[in-house]
Amino acid sequence: MKKPLTAATHPDRNKNDLIVVTGAGGFIGGSLIRYFADQGFINLRAVDKKPLPLWYQKTPGVENLCLDLSQEENCIRAAENAVEIYNLAADMGGMGFIENFRVECMRSILINTHLIEASYHAGVDRYFFSSSACAYNVDLQKDPDVRALKESDAYPAQAERGYGWEKLMSEMFCQEYAAERGMKTFIARFHNVYGPNGTWDGGREKAPAALSRKVIEAVDSGKMEIDIWGDGNQTRSFMYIDDCTKGIDLIMHCDDLIATPINLGTSELISINDLVSKIEEIAGVTLKRYYKLDAPRGVAGRNSDNTFILSVLDWEPNTPLQTGLAKTYQWIKEQYMDRKAGKFTPAGQH
Ligand code: NAD
Repeated sequence: MKKPLTAATHPDRNKNDLIVVTGAGGFIGGSLIRYFADQGFINLRAVDKKPLPLWYQKTPGVENLCLDLSQEENCIRAAENAVEIYNLAADMGGMGFIENFRVECMRSILINTHLIEASYHAGVDRYFFSSSACAYNVDLQKDPDVRALKESDAYPAQAERGYGWEKLMSEMFCQEYAAERGMKTFIARFHNVYGPNGTWDGGREKAPAALSRKVIEAVDSGKMEIDIWGDGNQTRSFMYIDDCTKGIDLIMHCDDLIATPINLGTSELISINDLVSKIEEIAGVTLKRYYKLDAPRGVAGRNSDNTFILSVLDWEPNTPLQTGLAKTYQWIKEQYMDRKAGKFTPAGQH
């Protein structure tokens, strides 16, 4: 198999081509901007609706724009002169957020709708959309011993209410812009992404960050207990952020994947209870567990079938969970201590 291409190795790409990342004030978008800067790209535009002081990461030398991309004129501004656009902007969060704020989640459709149209008129060469495993049919995810989800399992459609349907519909936009207008669009369905620089407090955090914070709080307060949403038997797979940014780059530069949704996640299934045990091991503690059975818990089980990504890219996310969790735990602990010392920590606001 030929080595898959990346932005840095693609023959059509120059290091001064303008790369635009939206949602760059958040976790994955901010990490993707830093990734491209590290690869030597010198013309980067980061866009987010949050005011700059609230961005999780700011990479030196990048054009940072504060724009609400649910407005058409802002999408036109964001897409000006762009060669590649990565759309990672969405109103989203962990289970607690996507179960309680379905309207907000669905309104993210405005972002992709305007941005892909603006990108088309701006003549961008490649367009990336960040979809989600929440686009999959929920009926296939009722058992913690879930069969891993393969790409065709999104149809017949029965996506997660709100968030999942927005993703599925936006995927369809990308597919039709490719079919009807010849745009090179790319769609990855992310499975839970975690790592440093992600939300770790405030209501939008996801399980690995939330549980790490709770363990840190338990140790710090000396109250050696933890509450867990659901019965802890629900299962998921978790992808480390560095695998996510690399995977986005590989997917975006693979012409076999134009308008073709693909899983981007690990196939290492783990229950929430086992995830807690791994974090306890990192912290060197054992906590008394309390189960909040009425809290949002999402589907019973969800895993990524990586047959397709392995066949097209000869690669899959491969950072061991223990390694990624240790780095994440350490980062959240530093943030927690910083906040306690009175410093402002945008990814961990109360
Ligand atoms: P995040 O919340 O950290 O970042 C999203 C960013 O989008 C935020 O900074 C937010 O301010 C910005 N945004 C929201 N509405 C906007 C608007 N109208 N205009 C401009 N910016 C706007 O989330 P993330 O984890 O970095 O997720 C990035 C993308 O990946 C999203 O599309 C998300 O749905 C998808 N995704 C993430 C995960 C995960 O586990 N983190 C899993 C599946 C899919």
